[in-house]
Amino acid sequence: MESRVMKLCCQGCGADLQVTEEVRFVTCNYCQSKLEIVRDASVTHTRVLEKLERTTERIAGNLKVIELQNDLERLDREWETVRQGMMSRGKDGHLYEPSTGSAVIAGVGGGIVGVVVMIGSIASSNTLGVALGLGIGVVAVAIARRSFDYAESFQSLEGRYQAQRQRMIRAIEAERRR
Ligand SMILES: [Zn+2]
Repeated sequence: MESRVMKLCCQGCGADLQVTEEVRFVTCNYCQSKLEIVRDASVTHTRVLEKLERTTERIAGNLKVIELQNDLERLDREWETVRQGMMSRGKDGHLYEPSTGSAVIAGVGGGIVGVVVMIGSIASSNTLGVALGLGIGVVAVAIARRSFDYAESFQSLEGRYQAQRQRMIRAIEAERRR
């Protein structure tokens, strides 16, 4: 027995479909909609079971996630470049981030050296030594203040980077939940 071929119209995109009589479910070759073939007493038509738009949206959502992840990776790379550029090499050869704490310690340390030199020079009535001690103290404090400001600007840049990173991660999570 030969099955009859029916001409139907895809409810999803309007394309002409040719379906054999006994088929109940088809997928449209044009729009990929899953269709149910509904046979009423008077007319046979198709009904979309799963709209393609949802799939398209999902793909678009995934693309958005990939795009956001690329942006996040770029942000991380940019920050790493800035960070590397702002770090200083310690005596042990390692790179260190500018820190307000070590700026204060260096300033206090330099100040103490200056004061010690001054006190020693006063004890031995060495006026040149007193001037040298004062100079050491003043220079140490000036350098420490500069490093402190530098460390502060580093921290504010890092804070901005972290805040932006958090925003991007939240955007990725929101996009994933869609
Ligand atoms: Zn279709």
